[in-house]
Amino acid sequence: MIPVNSVLQVGSFPEIMQAEIDRRIQTARLPDPKGIAPAGQFEAILVRSNTTVPIQLIEQIPSIKLIATCGVGYDNLPIDYLKKQGIKATNTPGVLNDAVCELAIGMLFSLLRRIHDADQFVRNAEWSKRVFPITTNLSGKKIGIAGMGRIGQDLAKRLHPFGVQISYTGPSKKNVPYQFVSTVKELAEQVDVLLLACPASPETEKMINAEVLRALGPKGYLVNIARGSVVDEAALIIALQQKLIAGAALDVFENEPNPASVLLTLDNVLLTPHIGSATIETRQAMTNLSIDNLEAFFNQQPLLTPI
Ligand code: NAP
Repeated sequence: MIPVNSVLQVGSFPEIMQAEIDRRIQTARLPDPKGIAPAGQFEAILVRSNTTVPIQLIEQIPSIKLIATCGVGYDNLPIDYLKKQGIKATNTPGVLNDAVCELAIGMLFSLLRRIHDADQFVRNAEWSKRVFPITTNLSGKKIGIAGMGRIGQDLAKRLHPFGVQISYTGPSKKNVPYQFVSTVKELAEQVDVLLLACPASPETEKMINAEVLRALGPKGYLVNIARGSVVDEAALIIALQQKLIAGAALDVFENEPNPASVLLTLDNVLLTPHIGSATIETRQAMTNLSIDNLEAFFNQQPLLTPI
């Protein structure tokens, strides 16, 4: 049982997620995380991973003992501060892998075969005037995954049947049947497609810089379904403009929801609005896992997916 009004919902949730929340618990709401917390003895915060929780908000509510974030990335939480204060946190790993992998692979196909451009080509009646450019196969490509975690491993499993060769990089070797490469630059040198599936962290910030993009080369493609901060976007824009790489597919950006306007003008980049987990089934599963964590906390049971 989750006591009524013991949970403060911070930020806004899409309708499908709000419906799950309302079905299971009664919360108080604070739509603007920078706003003044409503009065109440809240013990937990429920938030989405795209909403940053400022320390100033937590300081307003000394009764907070848990923050349940709906999403696997938790770069929206002040983790060091929470640890110091003894405030627990949970996320929603695993349940979003299917949706994120399906989007990444869809973006990869569209990037290589230019499906999004082909659609515009037919709609704009270009077809009767000229031939659509010849593109390239996924089959036979070398794919490098930066971040062989839950999503990275599921991506590799799904990509393998397409006849690709997979290698990866990360802080540690994993028990997987793919070649480990020690640095992201070396990985970029060796592959045709660099897929990002690592977390946002001080270590990964702008990890994909000008040097890595040059290593990827003019026939290389970048797919980012991780976080915008992992890519040096200014360097990426130059690489795309100067055709130092063949193209990029981006679901995440340095500045969301207002990506750099120059990106919108480039024809060798495919852009999606951070929709990796945005399917009905996945958003319901994420919401329910975060509420399961809240329930475990209020029932004094072990948290299901602690951070
Ligand atoms: P995960 O299981 O924690 O996997 C992350 C992997 O990245 C781990 O294997 C980790 O290695 C590795 N890693 C850490 N630092 C790295 C570095 N410097 N270079 C390369 N790899 C590094 O997390 P996940 O569930 O797969 O999710 C991965 C990320 O995807 C999330 O953090 C989130 O930001 C992003 N995501 C995006 C969307 C979207 O909507 N686009 C949706 C879901 C998730 P170790 O295990 O050795 O530490």
